[in-house]
Parts: sequence; structure tokens; C-alpha cells
Amino acid sequence: MNIGKVYLVGAGPGDAGLITVRGLELLRSAHVLVYDRLVNPELLDEAEPQAIKMFVGKRAGRHCVSQVEINGALIAYARAGLQVVRLKGGDPFVFGRGGEEAEALCEAGIPFEIVPGVSSAIAVPAYAGIPLTHRKLASSFAVVTGHEARKVNSVDWAKLATAVDTLIILMGLGNLSMIVQKLIAGGRSSQTPVAVVRSGTIAGQESVIGTLADIVEKSALIETPALIVIGDVVSLADKLRWFTAPLEQRPQYDSPRPAEPVRA
Ligand code: SAH
Repeated sequence: MNIGKVYLVGAGPGDAGLITVRGLELLRSAHVLVYDRLVNPELLDEAEPQAIKMFVGKRAGRHCVSQVEINGALIAYARAGLQVVRLKGGDPFVFGRGGEEAEALCEAGIPFEIVPGVSSAIAVPAYAGIPLTHRKLASSFAVVTGHEARKVNSVDWAKLATAVDTLIILMGLGNLSMIVQKLIAGGRSSQTPVAVVRSGTIAGQESVIGTLADIVEKSALIETPALIVIGDVVSLADKLRWFTAPLEQRPQYDSPRPAEPVRA
């Protein structure tokens, strides 16, 4: 029997229109679809009705399926001769464990292909009217995880505080207070503008704008998924805000298949 292939495909940041042409083509012809929580459910309808659809995201903060099990499923389906699309939110190689999955496939001798996606790190600020660079305001940006803020040897917040003009922090909401303190201690002005953007690019998108001094208090009620943008470019958000989406149409991320997802 011929061995199948695994495609690690970026689904884009939420708006179903932001998947790549290549990604959509593969999705439509896949035998098996293995997908995460942050993938827009509309995209699942693009797969063939008889395609196997396997949800492997987190629910209520817990992984339904471990990384070892996910790797095992990808390998087993490919060994059965099937074309497998592993659909991941944003880009598969930006905090998506795509690297680990590719390593597992490599070690198992399974052919694979990476189809990059539009990362939320780029797209969510864009939908919130925040350019990451600007000739007058920022000539560099860094994308970091806020999730490892408590670990030793992870992100060096003190160095990062003044090294880069724009900071984009993924998975940082739970540690925002500590991150803010470390950045100010590292020399970043407490008056630096900050945006917290929730459910970016989809119905329900909301932004809270403040400064390092007051963003923790202002964003206290914001829920995940959310991304944090820090830097002078955030001051443009008021002027460049262009995307509006009604709150009542927000997708239900806690369930793998919302009833009627709406493309804003
Ligand atoms: N591979 C993904 C990132 C996975 S980490 C990518 O390239 O986008 C998941 C984190 O990304 C979330 O905790 C959140 O911080 C951010 N994120 C993803 N989608 C988002 C969205 N639509 N709105 C706001 N933040 C989002």
C-alpha cells in the first residue's frame, strides 16, 4: 500500500477567508482532518463529507488528546495510505507545536509538507488597526509567548523591554500583570500604549486600549483567545480601526462545532 502524506496547514487567525489558496485546496481533498480549537468551524465544512474529522484541541483548559496521541494519529493515518491535513490556527510554526509534529513525522519516515498560515500575531493587530511597523513609530517587532513567564530561561522580559519597538504577546493574558511589571522594571515607559485584542478577525472582536500603567485593570474582564500589543504603534488604533463585528455573533470556541458560525 502506498504511504500517505501529512500536510501541516495554517488555517489563519480566525476569519475563514484568511486561509491560503494552497491550504484550502488541500483541505478540500483531504481524507483526514485533524484540527484544533482555534480553527474557524466554517473551514471544516470545506472538507469532503466523508472525510474523517478529528478534534484534538483543548477544552476547559485541558488537552483532549495528548501531543503523543496526536503525533500517533497523524502517523497511523498516513501509514494507512491517507492524505492527512493537520489544520492549525494561524501559522503551524508559530507557537503551534508544528515543529514537534514535523519532527515526529520525520522520525517515522512519513512524507510531510508545511503550508504556512496567516499568524494571529500579524493579522489580529491588523484587524485592530495597529500596524506593527511605521516609519515614524516602530522599526522592529517581536512575537513572544507570555505563557512561559514563570519559567526560568524563557523570555527575557528585562532585555526585551527596550530592545524592540513593538511587542506582540501570545498566550499572555494570564500573566499580563507580571509581564507589565517586568517590562517597566526593564526600562519601558509606563506610559507606553498597550492593546489587548480578543477574538481578532472574527465576529466578537474587541479591543481594550490603555498603557502599561493601567492595562491590567482595564482588561480584567477580557477572555481568551486574546493577544497583547505593546508599543507606540498602538496609538494609531483609534484612527485606523476599520473592522467591526457584532458581539452576539461570536463563535463559541468552547465547543468544537458552533451552531451557526458567522463570517464578519
Ligand atoms: N499558531 C497560532 C498561535 C497559537 S498560540 C498563530 O500563528 O496564530 C494561541 C494564541 O494565539 C492564543 O492564546 C492567543 O494569544 C493568540 N490568538 C490566536 N488566535 C487569536 C485571535 N483570533 N484573536 C486573538 N488572539 C489570538
